[in-house]
Amino acid sequence: MINNKPTSVSNWIEGARVPGNSEISFKVHYPGTGELLFETREASLDQIDEAVTASHRAQKVWKKVPTRERGRILIKAAQLIRKYGQSIAELEVWDTGKPISEATEVDVVTAADALEYYGNLAVTLHGDYYSLEEADVYTRVEPLGVCAGIGAWNYPFQIACWKSAPALACGNGFIFKPSELTPLSAVKLGEIYEEAGIPPGLFQVVQGAVTVGRALTTHPGIQKVSFTGEVGTGKKIMADSSVNLKHLTMELGGKSPLIIFPDTDPETAAKAALAANFYTQGEVCTNGTRVFVHEDYLAEFQSALRSRTGNVVLGDPFDPATNVGSLISKEHRELVLSYIRSGLDQGAKPEYLGEIPQGAFAEGYFVQPVVFYDCDDAMKIVQEEIFGPVMSVLTFKTEEEVLERANATEFGLGAGVFTKDISRIQRMTEGLESGMVWVNNYNITPMEMPFGGTKQSGFGKENGLDTLNHYSKRKSVYVSKADVFSPF
Ligand code: NAD
Repeated sequence: MINNKPTSVSNWIEGARVPGNSEISFKVHYPGTGELLFETREASLDQIDEAVTASHRAQKVWKKVPTRERGRILIKAAQLIRKYGQSIAELEVWDTGKPISEATEVDVVTAADALEYYGNLAVTLHGDYYSLEEADVYTRVEPLGVCAGIGAWNYPFQIACWKSAPALACGNGFIFKPSELTPLSAVKLGEIYEEAGIPPGLFQVVQGAVTVGRALTTHPGIQKVSFTGEVGTGKKIMADSSVNLKHLTMELGGKSPLIIFPDTDPETAAKAALAANFYTQGEVCTNGTRVFVHEDYLAEFQSALRSRTGNVVLGDPFDPATNVGSLISKEHRELVLSYIRSGLDQGAKPEYLGEIPQGAFAEGYFVQPVVFYDCDDAMKIVQEEIFGPVMSVLTFKTEEEVLERANATEFGLGAGVFTKDISRIQRMTEGLESGMVWVNNYNITPMEMPFGGTKQSGFGKENGLDTLNHYSKRKSVYVSKADVFSPF
């Protein structure tokens, strides 16, 4: 284990590390060992008010900064993320217990990519122009004002970057509240933005749990909330945000289908199913947790999967050889274990992968990944989001049947289809009720691809061009060339 153990965290308000002074405190544990790292106070309501005021002050200046200059600063910040990548990845591991290899290769990389992408896009912000006989009509693209981001604990740094980069590119102020379970890396992002040239107060971080989250969603000085978390929390946030009709982006949970037709190479199918379920210990919102395998192909799939299960290595999250880390918390581990018990009780047949590490990690929040065979659609493990390393394998006979069953869920985040049949790809991508469909791959999220769900998995998008529209508003301007119209 490495030695730079975090011993405190603070807010990031007006370009400074400011300790919270609320009466409410929260505890931060290292999930790999279960050790308490520190206990700290939340941001108080006064501190949140200060942050909102400071953000408005900074935003008034920032919105006038030319887009090419905004872009330059974001691109510089992306370069700094890459420069400090190792220390950011280490903070993510202390916070989440995920493997350092993932934090380095995915979390840091996709975070930097977001800043670079929106840095490059800033200059493209433009309105429309309509030349009418009686008038010139055009739209001005303007920032919303001050936006808040509320994050989940599974990708803390990436979430902070995916939300703040388009917001800042569009000329907004941004206040981020990370999950109280993973407060460390967002403050580092504040320092990076400052070093890159973002004015103090434009990007800020407030720490805490529900009270701090609600202080943001109910605050009349905040114009938008972009939320990542559970469906139930999302509904509460929508209700709270109605106080001043805030703009909303909702990135919520999922129970995504991964559908494998029998013309797929079994090795490819097995690789995809394992990655789609056990990456980040299964704590990925888009994971393909309902794996539908054609019934004639099950034996081939199963044997290819079994031949790869030896590659699953649970262990010290800081060890580069580890590819499955610990879950986020003791409570979450208990929840995931209760789902595994329910799968067993309902007759699913388990195959466990890897070994729980012992010694220094015996008290860590590890769960042995499990593949459940003999599942049916009515089982709790097949219906509900588990957010842990639990794969359910289901069999199907026909395309029509699997499409109907894949869509029989309140969620609609991701979906995967493996087949070489182009007509089938077209039918499936049209028929699947999800915000994203991956064909012959899974969970790949390039910046160019809009990311987000439909149905109860949410609305609005992250990444892609369209997200610029979610952080700006259009003002229509009519410049008359004609006499004033009036019946009076
Ligand atoms: P959560 O809903 O419990 O908490 C998310 C955030 O909301 C935390 O910062 C929390 O402090 C805050 N919060 C809780 N109650 C609040 C309230 N009433 N008002 C304002 N803020 C409040 O979710 P979680 O357990 O942190 O994350 C896991 C969930 O996130 C899963 O359902 C997962 O699918 C989802 N998720 C979705 C995406 C996506 O992009 N669609 C990505 C990652 C995670």
